Amino acid sequence: MSFESLGLSPALLRALSEQGYDTPTPIQTQAIPLVLSGHDLLGGAQTGTGKTAAFGLPLLNLLSKQTGVSGPRKPRALILVPTRELAVQVSDSLRGYGKHLRMGITTIFGGAGMGPQVDALRRGVDILVATPGRLIDHLERGTARLDGIEILVMDEADRMLDMGFLPAIKRILAKLPRDRQTLLFSATFEAQLKALALEFMRNPQQVQV
Ligand code: AMP
Repeated sequence: MSFESLGLSPALLRALSEQGYDTPTPIQTQAIPLVLSGHDLLGGAQTGTGKTAAFGLPLLNLLSKQTGVSGPRKPRALILVPTRELAVQVSDSLRGYGKHLRMGITTIFGGAGMGPQVDALRRGVDILVATPGRLIDHLERGTARLDGIEILVMDEADRMLDMGFLPAIKRILAKLPRDRQTLLFSATFEAQLKALALEFMRNPQQVQV
């Protein structure tokens, strides 16, 4: 199996080969075609399996197919993560994969000043990587808008629930367009998480590694 055969664009393939990725991992082989074809996805995968590229590559591919919106860009993809460390890590990975695309990626997390995050959001963004609590702060202040979101990713969803983010996640979900693609990754699938998936996803395809 190769990245070429998964249907990714030349700009992404070039970035992957520059980073020395030559073979997709099992979660990437399973998830990438499903996400590219527009399905919702429930991914059972731990850190270290290559899950960031499993959602990041098709997400970048989908967003890069349609660009050229004029005026300040509203975020088109939202990636919710439990911690600031993961927010930074996911953003860095996406910047690497998207280095030959013109994609604005902004990272927002708690424990840092609001000012620079507000400025970054105002300048326009395509992909927002956020921790739930800080995103709520921005929504309350009117500094982040979610009405243009086409793709939602919840990464390490079990950890987000363990950290008590379920109410924040539900408030965020209520602000998103219903017509969107939703991807959820988690190492475990407890009842609370299954209920969330049933409520907020459309006929999700499941992949497990
Ligand atoms: P993740 O599970 O997304 O945190 O990825 C774990 C590590 O594997 C990261 O350092 C990635 O850069 C790396 N990685 C992911 N996919 C591949 C791949 N197909 N080939 C080589 N390295 C990869």
